[in-house]
Order: sequence, then C-alpha cells, then structure tokens
Amino acid sequence: HPVIQLENLTKVFQTDDIETRALADVSLEVNKGEYVSIAGPSGCGKSTLLAILGLLDAPTGGMYLLNGRAVHELNLQERARIRNREIGFIFQSFNLIGDLSVEENVELPLTYRGMLPDERRARVAEALEKVGMSHRAKHLPAQLSGGQQQRVAVARALAGYPAVLLADEPTGNLDSKNGEAVMELLRDLHRGGATIVMVTHDARFTRFAERTIHVLDGRVVDAVTAAANA
Ligand code: ADP
Ligand code: ADP
Repeated sequence: HPVIQLENLTKVFQTDDIETRALADVSLEVNKGEYVSIAGPSGCGKSTLLAILGLLDAPTGGMYLLNGRAVHELNLQERARIRNREIGFIFQSFNLIGDLSVEENVELPLTYRGMLPDERRARVAEALEKVGMSHRAKHLPAQLSGGQQQRVAVARALAGYPAVLLADEPTGNLDSKNGEAVMELLRDLHRGGATIVMVTHDARFTRFAERTIHVLDGRVVDAVTAAANA
C-alpha cells in the first residue's frame, strides 16, 4: 500500500515581490517497502520536495497523504508531532549533537516522544546493532569517522520505527569508500523492509534504489525503474 501519495503538489515561495514556483503539479506514490531516489539538477526542487515529504514545510497547493492521512493541511504543531513519529531523517551533515554520546544522540528523539526509559534503551540498542555501531555507544561524535557518524545518524532515524526514511544527500560529506558503505547499509535496511526516499545528485548511487524519480524545474519528468538504473 502507498506510504506516500502526492497529488498535484505545488510549492510557491514568496519573497517580497518575487514568486518562485519550486514545485509544480507533482504527483507521485511511494509504496511500503520501496526504495526511491529523487534526482535532478541543482535548483530543480529536490530539497523542497524532501522538506514537504518530511513535514518540515507545507505545500501551497495539492494533496499529501502519509499512510492514508491528509497531512498537507496540518498546523505547525500537528505536523511536528507526526514528523516525530512517522519520519526518519538522514542529512548530508549528520546533524549529531556534539556533546551527547552516540547512544544519547539516538535516544533523544524517543525522549521527545515521551517513550519510557526501558523501551528507549531497547530501541537504542537495537538500532545501533542494526548499523554496526554498538561498540561505539559511549563515544562522542567527534571520536568517530564521518562514515561512522552517518551510521549513528541512520540509527537515530531508525530507532523511532518511522513509516519512511528520508535521506538528503547522505553521502555528500563522505569519501567514496564511506559513501559506498552507507549506501550498502541503506540497501540492507531496504531489504529488511524499510521504505526509503533519497535525494542524491551522485549518479553512482541512484543504482542502489529500485526507482528514480527525475525532477526538472519543479516537475516530475519521468520515473525510471531499476532495470534502466542498472
Ligand atoms: P534543489 O534541492 O533541487 O537544489 P531547492 O528545492 O533547494 O532545489 O530549490 C528549488 C527552487 O526554489 C530554487 O529556485 C530555489 O531558489 C527556490 N527556493 C528554495 N527555498 C526557497 C526559500 N525558502 N525561499 C525562496 N525560494 C526558495
Ligand atoms: P575512516 O578511515 O573510516 O575515516 P578514521 O581513520 O577516522 O576512520 O577512524 C578510525 C578509527 O579510529 C575509528 O574506529 C574511529 O572510531 C577511531 N577514532 C577516530 N578518531 C578518534 C578520536 N578522536 N578518538 C577516539 N577514536 C577515534
């Protein structure tokens, strides 16, 4: 069943007297268990699309159903609540908190959700195990390599059992060896059932996804399947 359904989604930014149409009439679906990449040139609207999918921003028109629930009309507070429960983010810059340990970083979003300590600890242990970082639970982010920091960020995203993992250029700050390793991790998570939407402009990595959605000037131009990706 579809986790994400967009219908005629539009986003217009208004800055003084300048109007920028960042997204125009975007319609797409992502099914449970799918791994989709979003590709396109700089400025085409990829970040805007990911921000809306992740409930960081609201569209100016159209419809967004997340697990069948209309989320395009929610107010800021409702959006934040659903974001915390349903969305796992992975950023280019890891966004770990420097003075919290690895396990505290992974635990923090669960604390915000009001989860009880025993369940939090179990979730953190499970997530660190999944990304192969259990042996670094007490380390600070600065004591880890970039690739390891991104694995911790993936664990943080997973720990909440999100409906979808959103990855924004997850290899952008990594050398090719670590980039490849993070991509293999995402592929393994996908094989384990995770739904993933990834933005990348690195053509080497779109092949990891089952399907690539190409965006040009705020529009979806076509969707290529894995066979064509390979
Ligand atoms: P991409 O991620 O593909 O590089 P973006 O989604 O960042 O593209 O940007 C799409 C378009 O929307 C660009 O023309 C950009 O200048 C514009 N844009 C993005 N964010 C804003 C904003 N907050 N205010 C005004 N214009 C914006
Ligand atoms: P990579 O070659 O994968 O980028 P690094 O050379 O950065 O890895 O790190 C190698 C190992 O050393 C890693 O296991 C990492 O946890 C550890 N390490 C790196 N920097 C520090 C540090 N400042 N303090 C403690 N351990 C560190």
